[in-house]
Amino acid sequence: MGETVYIGFGSNEGDRLDYCDRAVTLLGLLPHSQLIAVSSLYETEPVADERTDPGSGLFLNGVVGVETEIAPRSLLAICLEVERALGRDREECQGPRTLDLDILLYGSRIIHEDDLTVPHPRLHLRRFVLVPLVELDPSCVHPELGATVKELLDRLPPSPAVRRLDPQPGSRYGSRPTCNIPPAAT
Ligand code: ADP
Ligand code: MG
Repeated sequence: MGETVYIGFGSNEGDRLDYCDRAVTLLGLLPHSQLIAVSSLYETEPVADERTDPGSGLFLNGVVGVETEIAPRSLLAICLEVERALGRDREECQGPRTLDLDILLYGSRIIHEDDLTVPHPRLHLRRFVLVPLVELDPSCVHPELGATVKELLDRLPPSPAVRRLDPQPGSRYGSRPTCNIPPAAT
């Protein structure tokens, strides 16, 4: 059924754990889709670049794997709707964020449209995306760069640190423990 899509989630404002839990729960309810994997939660220093000033709050990040028949543009619209529903203020889209959802990979598709780029254009530069992605599927290949996500992670410098929360917090909505898969041996 469908293609395997990886979606990254992150929050650095308000009740971060609750935002992440709600996002995973909603992504688990998508029609014509099945949630197949949910990574551990990781805490990450915010990274400012030329586009963003995310404030000083630590991020909670993770990645979900979804098998879906929803087309990429429709999936993007759903992600933006979930961000909006969970309170992200698009007027301040480069500031602190209650919830950020990014389509990281959509099978092996390569998409370059005005408002949708897949693989996500900064996927290979972000430890906080690659670490949970490697946890779910280290052999997953970036179709444009021709490297596995594990290889991409190994190319990055060790900082900023991405720390797996230990112990992993419980999920208020039951969205994580049932889907969590053990870290792959690397
Ligand atoms: P980032 O998550 O890279 O820090 P933003 O979340 O602020 O950036 O960017 C949001 C915009 O990025 C959305 O309005 C969307 O149209 C666009 N976009 C392009 N490609 C993607 C993608 N693969 N996943 C999510 N948003 C994307
Ligand atoms: Mg985003």
